[in-house]
Amino acid sequence: MTPISRREFLAKSGTCAAHLALAAAVSPRLLREVWARQPAGPVVATEPWARIEQVGDGIWALVSTPLGGDYTTVSNGGIIAGKSAVLAIEGFQTPKGAAWLAAQARALTGRWPTHVLVTHYHSDHANGVAGYITEKDHPVIRATQITRDEVIARNTPADAARTAALDDAVLMSPTDAWTLDLGGRSVRVVPQLGHTDSDVALELDDANLIFTGDLFWNAMFPNYVDAMPSKLARSIGVLRAKQAATYVPGHGNVATPAALDRYIAMIDDVGEAATRAHAAGASAKDAAAAYAIPAATGEWTMFSKAFIERAFTAWYRELDGAR
Ligand SMILES: [Zn+2]
Repeated sequence: MTPISRREFLAKSGTCAAHLALAAAVSPRLLREVWARQPAGPVVATEPWARIEQVGDGIWALVSTPLGGDYTTVSNGGIIAGKSAVLAIEGFQTPKGAAWLAAQARALTGRWPTHVLVTHYHSDHANGVAGYITEKDHPVIRATQITRDEVIARNTPADAARTAALDDAVLMSPTDAWTLDLGGRSVRVVPQLGHTDSDVALELDDANLIFTGDLFWNAMFPNYVDAMPSKLARSIGVLRAKQAATYVPGHGNVATPAALDRYIAMIDDVGEAATRAHAAGASAKDAAAAYAIPAATGEWTMFSKAFIERAFTAWYRELDGAR
């Protein structure tokens, strides 16, 4: 697939990543620095759109770097290798992005991914999933039924290869945790809610590490477009309580528990402010305009005031009992 243009990306991406392109226009130098900080571990591959860092024995994080305008991958993802199988995390924005991760997996582990897991339906995590499939390689694709159905029904542009890949997906429970055995290594897949109506996190006890999907955005204000905010707060609290040493977020750099703590403090403050404003009868728009993120939670990449308003709107939706 040829790289998509910035304009095409904005037109096609209604979900959590579209604002990244906007961000690059707002303050490119500042925003790129968010991704340019020290990687968590040895970097084994770098392209304009992403780098791959080792984060454990047989575990690598793909950290996307889309703010230069290359949207080949956009979201983060990863590779987890066992003795008999290799799991790729996320389908990425384009088939080229997924194929790149797969080629890196083969270079690092000797195997093309045998399994692929899509954490939620958003286009930057799912649209490239057919890129894992070749004439001789056909990994088992896993998604919850909600995720599969939403990708097929909602994501654009329509893509027959993506739909076919998801039609063949092995469905995961939307409510019950299950364990994927990769041979001498187990990955616990834990359904959560909050960023969308079906998210999953991946927990690796042996490495003390969690891939959070988009429940966690490191040093970036998250997109609440589909959020159920109190459920998001509850889900991320559960992941924090696991006391992992390393958290791989859906966007932004690989994180420490301290980085997750400041994210939790920030989204909790947004929730408290929205709840107060709702009780006082202010509109979501006015309340968002008056809101400032507490300086004590550190710096946040803010793409637009619209994202704060979107968070308040999501809280109001919930407080009004709309979902
Ligand atoms: Zn998302």
